[in-house]
Amino acid sequence: MKTDRSHALFTRASELLPGGVNSPVRAFKSVGGEPFFAQRAEGAYLFDVDGNRYLDYVGSWGPMIAGHAHPQVLDAVAKVMRDGLSFGVPNALEVTMAEAITSIVPSCEMVRMVNSGTEATLSAIRLARGATGRSRIIKFEGCYHGHGDSFLVKAGSGALTLGLPNSPGVPAALADLTMTLPYNDFDAATTLFDEIGHEVAGLIIEPIVGNANCILPRDGYLQHLRELCTRHGALLIFDEVMTGFRVAPGGAQQRYGIRPDLSTFGKIIGGGMPVGAYGGRRDLMSQIAPSGPIYQAGTLSGNPVAMAAGLATLELIGQPGFHDALERSTHALCDGLEAAAGEAGVAFHTTRAPGMFGLYFREGPVETFADALGSDTARFNRFFHAMLEGGVYLAPSAFEAGFVSSAHGEAEIAATVAAARAAFEQIGRM
Ligand SMILES: *Cc1c(COP(=O)(O)O)cnc(C)c1O
Repeated sequence: MKTDRSHALFTRASELLPGGVNSPVRAFKSVGGEPFFAQRAEGAYLFDVDGNRYLDYVGSWGPMIAGHAHPQVLDAVAKVMRDGLSFGVPNALEVTMAEAITSIVPSCEMVRMVNSGTEATLSAIRLARGATGRSRIIKFEGCYHGHGDSFLVKAGSGALTLGLPNSPGVPAALADLTMTLPYNDFDAATTLFDEIGHEVAGLIIEPIVGNANCILPRDGYLQHLRELCTRHGALLIFDEVMTGFRVAPGGAQQRYGIRPDLSTFGKIIGGGMPVGAYGGRRDLMSQIAPSGPIYQAGTLSGNPVAMAAGLATLELIGQPGFHDALERSTHALCDGLEAAAGEAGVAFHTTRAPGMFGLYFREGPVETFADALGSDTARFNRFFHAMLEGGVYLAPSAFEAGFVSSAHGEAEIAATVAAARAAFEQIGRM
């Protein structure tokens, strides 16, 4: 495989950008080797600057659910762009977007547009703190909510100990306020709420964990958290930056029938542009400035070009049967990979939700973060590189979910399974 041009670019980039990238996981540090530089993308495929073509299961980390460079999305952007890139006064597309989100996700009675998932989660916990007058936040091991200080926190030695900074630069005084629970553990949540429930402003969770590979909630788990929050006066915040509009039109909250108090979005609602949003109960959202005292603002929030890309994407995924087809493709892919691993005698397990999946180099089931950590990451890394050689781009980390788009048809799935058969054979011999 030719890599000269990517290599030259990465050499230049490494001089000027920390690690050669603008977001850490892109650097291939956990799988080894160097990233390739994209030239363009179309449908299910990425093309690099050396002329290599890859079947892409990253989809820009989630937004490209309708495939790359979808003509309807590009047309919408081109049309809006001609009228100007940003106005700094309200525009009609922001209203259309708010109408779209609130009609697709009924728990969101009002929304505020922001520019990234990180901004959405930061704003949501500020709102939770401002509205409840409490300071503590609960989050879960393995969940990722962007790079805000309050989220870059790891658990202390026991569930009831204070959180510890997970990155230099996060003040211990702030980390203290974030408690971390094991995902899918009913009793740990009950115990923590019994102790400190009255101090908790909000509990934030990825209802399906997509940042520890992919872990699904146990039956009744999200309902259990809903009840704990209600009983203790804490707000339930679903971080649906990844699952929103993906696992069902209305996200995980629709799939599992839970009504959170607040939700955060990103990725798909920007259709590939930098967009985030948070929304929820009207009595909470109306406490945001300027209708209320809780401050949050953004120079480019509700940007017309970004709204156009997001709205065009929402229109595509709103077509009847879109999510059913996505679910079928996800199952076909995962079943095919499991069968190929079985033939090669490689211990392997997949987890799936519509449009997203987890690959584990271990026997199943995988229901907790500890289970996910039990995956053989050295094997994953060899598999990753063998697949890349075979023209398939998986997320360059054993702990990232994969994404299927509507552009991944039968031919693409079959080609992926064929590449996987060869890759499993290769790593099975090592
Ligand atoms: C990607 C992601 C974020 C952060 O979004 P950015 O746009 O990268 O800031 C937050 N939460 C979840 C669940 C995510 O997957």
